[in-house]
Amino acid sequence: TKWVYGFGNGAAEGDAGMKNLLGGKGANLAEMSNLGLPVPPGFTITTEVCTWYYDHDKSYPAELAAEVEAALADIGRLTGRAFGDRTHPLLVSVRSGARVSMPGMMDTVLNLGLNDETVKAMATSSGDERFAYDSYRRFIQMYGDVVLGVDHHSFEEILQEVKDEAGHVLDTDLSAAELAGIIERYKDLVAAELGRPFPQDPMEQLWGAIGAVFGSWMTHRAQTYRRLHDIPASWGTAVNVQAMVFGNMGETSATGVAFTRNPSTGEKALYGEFLVNAQGEDVVAGIRTPQDITEKARIEAGSDRPSMERLMPEAHAEFVRICDRLEAHYRDMQDLEFTIERGKLWMLQTRSGKRTAKAALKIAVDMAAEGLITEKEAVLRVEPSALDQLLHPTIDPKAERNIFVTGLPASPGAACGAIVFTSEEAEQAKAAGRKVILVRVETSPEDIHGMHAAEGILTSRGGMTSHAAVVARGMGKPCVSGAGALRIDYRSGTVSAGGKTLDKGQVITIDGSTGQVLIGEVPMQQPSLSGDFATLMTWADGGRRMKVRANAETPADARVARDFGAEGIGLCRTEHMFFDGERILAVREMILSATEEGRRAALAKLLPMQRNDFVQLFEIMKGLPVTIRLLDPPLHEFLPHSDAEIAEVAEAMGVAADKLRERALELSEFNPMLGHRGCRLLVSYPEIAEMQARAIFEAAVEAGRQTGAPVVPEIMVPLVGLKAELDLVRGRIDAMAKAVAAETGVTIDYQVGTMVELPRAALRAGDIAESAEFFSFGTNDLTQTTFGISRDDAASFLGTYQQKGLIEQDPFVSIDRDGVGELISIAAERGRKTRPGIKLGICGEHGGDPASIHFCESVGLDYVSCSPFRVPIARLAAAQAAL
Ligand code: PEP
Ligand code: MG
Repeated sequence: TKWVYGFGNGAAEGDAGMKNLLGGKGANLAEMSNLGLPVPPGFTITTEVCTWYYDHDKSYPAELAAEVEAALADIGRLTGRAFGDRTHPLLVSVRSGARVSMPGMMDTVLNLGLNDETVKAMATSSGDERFAYDSYRRFIQMYGDVVLGVDHHSFEEILQEVKDEAGHVLDTDLSAAELAGIIERYKDLVAAELGRPFPQDPMEQLWGAIGAVFGSWMTHRAQTYRRLHDIPASWGTAVNVQAMVFGNMGETSATGVAFTRNPSTGEKALYGEFLVNAQGEDVVAGIRTPQDITEKARIEAGSDRPSMERLMPEAHAEFVRICDRLEAHYRDMQDLEFTIERGKLWMLQTRSGKRTAKAALKIAVDMAAEGLITEKEAVLRVEPSALDQLLHPTIDPKAERNIFVTGLPASPGAACGAIVFTSEEAEQAKAAGRKVILVRVETSPEDIHGMHAAEGILTSRGGMTSHAAVVARGMGKPCVSGAGALRIDYRSGTVSAGGKTLDKGQVITIDGSTGQVLIGEVPMQQPSLSGDFATLMTWADGGRRMKVRANAETPADARVARDFGAEGIGLCRTEHMFFDGERILAVREMILSATEEGRRAALAKLLPMQRNDFVQLFEIMKGLPVTIRLLDPPLHEFLPHSDAEIAEVAEAMGVAADKLRERALELSEFNPMLGHRGCRLLVSYPEIAEMQARAIFEAAVEAGRQTGAPVVPEIMVPLVGLKAELDLVRGRIDAMAKAVAAETGVTIDYQVGTMVELPRAALRAGDIAESAEFFSFGTNDLTQTTFGISRDDAASFLGTYQQKGLIEQDPFVSIDRDGVGELISIAAERGRKTRPGIKLGICGEHGGDPASIHFCESVGLDYVSCSPFRVPIARLAAAQAAL
């Protein structure tokens, strides 16, 4: 095995394709060398050494020492220097470099090779004593900190003391003699802490630094990061050793970082910063303010400090040429590090640059237009979930964030308003033209009007599929749910968290994309759906196989869904249509009547409203498929609770309040999510299915007349576990279709299908498909019932599961492929066997999650359905899954 790969002087043993072996940094240094770019010579110790090291009790392969020495000799030949040489000493940098850049790892040791002798040689050969001692001072501090484990602050204290004694403000004010004094104190500090002197032998220094890089692979921080980002420990890190070039050799030297395009806007213009007479860590430390690289950027920033273009025109011109070359070569926006030593430019790093969603979109579209990448590549380059940032107002990234509490990012976008604690207050405020955030322990169907009126919703309880989260996403309203640290006191009208208390009326801003709740009003940015966004979505649609539908009930939601490109409605939750004032009363009447006759009377009140809803939906959808689900309320969501509510229903029904309270008590359940809901309710009260079927068919006839296009409704039965349940309900639907046809003289084409949201339904899909013309996977309930974890209570403990590494992802957010996924595969296979070509879709929250959408593509579903605001994300994810 070869353990060490050299690079420099226009050649390299590796290349950009060898990231797994050389790490990202090492592979790209090799690639830049191969391209003939000015890269200080060096070598990369492979990631395989790291793996070997941990497999062999933290020791090295026998051949490694010889390979490192040979590679060092190569650097020496190219630079005319040697380790420990008394006239031309070689100094190197040592950096870690995993396959992907990884915080938590040892970063950099610079100036390695300096000691009491070589520092004198550096002073002489550079003709700059101050530079030499400053470099040695930095080296002891960095090496002492990251390799020897001496606390960084102890060094800083000494530095500060000397500056204070001499009356200096800046490090750059220190003289060579003062620096020499600091060096002595630094060495004393190290000796006192370690019980042995600071290592003077450059070879010993080098092996110490190499060991520190490998050691940092297993630090707690690095392990946590890997777990969170799904990076296996077996990947290992490489070590890059490279000849030093100095940005701190006076006014003609500098160091900087740059992006080939603007990483926040995507604008095609070199963007970056540099510092004159400095080393890398000065830029990061942020003590001195860096200067702009280009004149254009300097003018735009209104800075009066000269740009690199002005100060170092030759190095700048070469840098611009190299940037263009690298971007064209890698066919992506690059993030670069460079150093200028006495006017000569050196490249230290290149990699694909991180960028905002807006920049990602613009760069992808621009690069396709420039012919640098294909349209297909452009589609693959944009992270679908990043679109979320673009579809809602977002908090200005420059804004200050005064965090009050953090909850779950339940529905994206940012909103700000005054705190209110009840839906009534929210409505009144809205009517008075004031903006509010509805703050509640949790929301229930009675809060729909308040949620509509509020700018955003904050709850202290409930997970990502809680009522508040699902309804807010459907409405496209920002929501932070399950902020467990919140203490809401409805009585005193206050809410507190982390020792701070806010009153009703105080302004907060919620960020539903991060889960943060901020005190006060925070500046926002507005979304734009035209331009690059529209262009990329058109390309995505060209590459997509699955259709994308929306979960929508209201005409407003349906219109948003169409604007976002939904190709139909995959789930109309009819119970959501019953939440409004007048309707909820009729629903309560229906649920609470003890007789069929009473229920039919209440249903008769609902029929015209339902019909009208469906007419509107059919009209907005203009012949696109619309899946309407029959009533699926966990009953508790509809039962009256307060005395006032009970009195209201009692009066409407003409029964005594006490009687009604008794009936409500009778109906209340221990476990409503597994109780009398879904088709079970329809089995008990088939007249509900009849009313809803009638409303659907009559609406289809009417909409068909008005638009001239036939409407083919898809009627869906929820929570089916037994084929017999579906058959019973289906019987009522089919009979109603005949009745309406006889009454209107119009025969309606329609389909009856079922939700697959119980494990039994998935397993018995072969049977059920005999009666179902389509399946829609209700993965919210299917996840709940497969895991046996309540979707409304999961948030309180699943977070711990994630922290402890038991699960990687919340299964209510991203589909559990192994368990829930297998049930879906089984159901798809068995359903298709019975009914080849059976239409298959998904309408749980997972229908808007990119990873879950990839899964849906892999089992060949026909469509995904998600909340309207996630439709563009789903379109892009579905295209990426297919490409
Ligand atoms: C589901 O269970 O996945 C589903 C879509 O239905 P609901 O969320 O309304 O229970
Ligand atoms: Mg369900």
